[in-house]
Amino acid sequence: MRVLLVAPPGAGKGTQATKLADHFGVVHLSSGDLLRQEVKAGTEIGKAASDYLQRGDLVPDELIFTMLAESIVQASRHGGYVLDGFPRNLRQAEAAYKLTEQVGGIELEAVVHLDVAREELTRRLLTRASREGRSDDSEHVIEHRFEVYAAETEPLLTFYRERGLVLEINGERDEEQVFSDIVSSFERHCLTRRD
Ligand code: ADP
Repeated sequence: MRVLLVAPPGAGKGTQATKLADHFGVVHLSSGDLLRQEVKAGTEIGKAASDYLQRGDLVPDELIFTMLAESIVQASRHGGYVLDGFPRNLRQAEAAYKLTEQVGGIELEAVVHLDVAREELTRRLLTRASREGRSDDSEHVIEHRFEVYAAETEPLLTFYRERGLVLEINGERDEEQVFSDIVSSFERHCLTRRD
């Protein structure tokens, strides 16, 4: 399985990516989690990324690419990956696409788009803020992350739709329903692609 999850903040990307990776026995690569670990460990990448994370801005593309490219190639050699958070803008998608031309067997099979209404997203994020205390879950940073998502990340869906990769999933149901919908939709998609 080689899948990318695209969804606005709060839609449940991380939750569903973890479940999918367990279910299919592949690696879960979350750019956000990896960045937060780098920040916590005080690495060079972490130092360079920290301010962007605080503000809810995207960190520079090269940084993300350096952090993830090799892991994507390795994961592909060991059954695949669930990517959560990368590519996150068109430049990253194009860079990833170039990499697939150089290295075989790493390209995406499907892109899962989780659709959740804005009010529900805000509600979930504010609940998470009180539970986990993520520093970018304050109300004004959340607002900014939505803007960044609309401007930078949503255009990715058009890019991947043109390539016939997008699976539309209603993310506004309980976790298990969303999960089984993704699994069946992915399996159907792979069968049709094989025909
Ligand atoms: P969310 O989708 O809820 O905003 P993430 O954990 O996916 O949460 O991302 C948190 C932050 O990590 C983003 O606001 C951004 O600063 C940074 N980030 C994650 N992935 C990328 C990426 N591919 N390119 C640039 N920045 C990224």
